[in-house]
Amino acid sequence: MGLRARKRFGQNFLADPGIVRRIVDAAGLSPTDPVLEIGPGRGAMTGTILERVDRAAAVELDRDLAALLRNHPAADRLELFEQDVLKLDFTEVQHRLGTKDPLVVLGNLPYNISKPITARLRVQRQSVDRAVLMFQREVAERLAAPPGTRTYGPLTILTGTWFQVRTLFHVSPGAFRPRPEVTSTVTGWETRADPPLPDELEGALEACLRGCFARRRQTLWNNLRAALGSDPARALLDTTGLEGSLRPEALPPAAYYKLAAGWPSTDAGR
Ligand code: SAM
Repeated sequence: MGLRARKRFGQNFLADPGIVRRIVDAAGLSPTDPVLEIGPGRGAMTGTILERVDRAAAVELDRDLAALLRNHPAADRLELFEQDVLKLDFTEVQHRLGTKDPLVVLGNLPYNISKPITARLRVQRQSVDRAVLMFQREVAERLAAPPGTRTYGPLTILTGTWFQVRTLFHVSPGAFRPRPEVTSTVTGWETRADPPLPDELEGALEACLRGCFARRRQTLWNNLRAALGSDPARALLDTTGLEGSLRPEALPPAAYYKLAAGWPSTDAGR
């Protein structure tokens, strides 16, 4: 203790044991579950996790906090990765935990890198079974947004293709030290056993969503034309049978899967 919270690491520490318990309960842990905690900080959740499972892993970027965790009473059952979660290879975590089973990921996340963390989970999804993750409320709303709403967009569609994300409960700023400026929301993630899009179309889906949502207030046609040029845009609307006059947020994920399947490959890596 005694270490000052570092804003650049998104440090807002949980100070409410009841909230810690609710988050860990939501993961439904059994003793042999391989757990990865993202950003354990001063260990607010780590101790409770280690009461539930035999062994766990944690990834922490702040060296001072990592040093603190090495002195945790249950440190001999904690595999600590002192590094950036955005560069963490989850198969290495499985290896260090001595398992091939996919991980249960938990975290009160550093909010400054929420979106990149969702992308990292997507990239590492083969190694993820489920997750319980706390985000700032605005990001959680985007993750679980239905089509036709203001918050529905690329983050919703990309994440939802490979994970089923549910909103579990909200947490007020008073549960943290220091208090964040925003309300937080705990979300539950289940990796889809049967995703609705083949893995090889992931790059095309990303490119297609970048193009289609480049200007949210414009029509699908205008966005497609700007991204691809008139003739390819017209051809794509013809083959998919989609209505170009709609706004991008009006289209369900299935429409974007059709667009991704027909997306010109030269643009996939843009
Ligand atoms: N879990 C603790 C709690 O609830 O009190 C701390 C949560 S705090 C919001 C986020 C934690 O993530 C901090 O400990 C911070 O140092 C760590 N962190 C920030 N960026 C990170 C990164 N790129 N990789 C790993 N950990 C990171």
